[in-house]
Amino acid sequence: MRTPFIAANWKMHKTVAETVTFVTEFRGLVKDIKDVEIVVAPPFTALHAAAEAARNSNVGIAAQNLYWERQGAFTGEISAPMIREAGAAYGIIGHSERRTLFGETDASVNRRIAAAFAERLTPIVCIGETLDQRERNETFAVLDRQIKQGFDGVTADEMAKLVIAYEPVWAIGTGRNATPAQASEAHGHIRARLLQWFGGEAAGRCRIIYGGSVKPDNTAALLSQPDVDGALVGGASMDVRDFFAIVSRGRREAV
Ligand code: PEP
Repeated sequence: MRTPFIAANWKMHKTVAETVTFVTEFRGLVKDIKDVEIVVAPPFTALHAAAEAARNSNVGIAAQNLYWERQGAFTGEISAPMIREAGAAYGIIGHSERRTLFGETDASVNRRIAAAFAERLTPIVCIGETLDQRERNETFAVLDRQIKQGFDGVTADEMAKLVIAYEPVWAIGTGRNATPAQASEAHGHIRARLLQWFGGEAAGRCRIIYGGSVKPDNTAALLSQPDVDGALVGGASMDVRDFFAIVSRGRREAV
C-alpha cells in the first residue's frame, strides 16, 4: 500500500513572515493526520524558516528546484547540500515552469535527480505533456521520453523512493484540471513503463501524484483513481484552509 503524498508548490509566493504564519497554523490543523505524507515547498528564501516552523511536526519541507553541483561559480543557483542544511528533505525537479521558462531539459532533470539522491533529498519529479502534444496524440510518447531520459541511470531502489508528479502543462494554473479518466490513463501508462523499465518493486512503490488545478472540490474524484497516489498543488495550496481540505480529502479517498 502506497502512502498518499500531497505537496504544496507555492512558486514565487509568500514572504518569510507569511510562510511562518502558514506553517504554524497548518501544522496544528494536520497534526492528527498520520496516513498522508504532507510537504510544503516555499521559495528558497523561506526554506529555513519553514523548516524551523515545521520542526517535530508531520509537515515536510521541499525546495522548488536544486542545482546539481555542490558549490562553485554558479551565480543564482542553490545546491542540494544547501537545501538539506536549510532543513528541507525534498526537492521538486523539472516543474513545467522550469522547463518552459528557464530552459530545463530531461538531461538537466536527470542531473538534478542524482544530486538530490546524493544528499538524501527525495526528488519530486514533474513530467507531463503540453496541450499541443496532447492534441497531436503524443502524450504517451512525451511521457516515455521524459521517463527514459529524465530517469536514465536511476536505480530500481531509487525509483521506489522518489515521487513522480504527472502534471499536464495545460492543466497547471489554468483552472482546467484533467478529468479523473485522463489522469487515470496517464498514471496507468507511467506505472506500466516503470514496471517495464525498473521492475515490479519500483513500479509498485513509486508514488505517482497528479498536479494541475487541484482544488478541494475535485481532490476526491482525482485521488480516488487507483494509480493516483496524491497531488502536487499550486494555487489552492496557498490558502491554509484550502490546502488542509485537500489533504483531508486526499487522505480519505486515496488510502
Ligand atoms: C503546480 O504548480 O505544480 C500546479 C499544479 O499548479 P496549480 O495547482 O495552480 O495548477
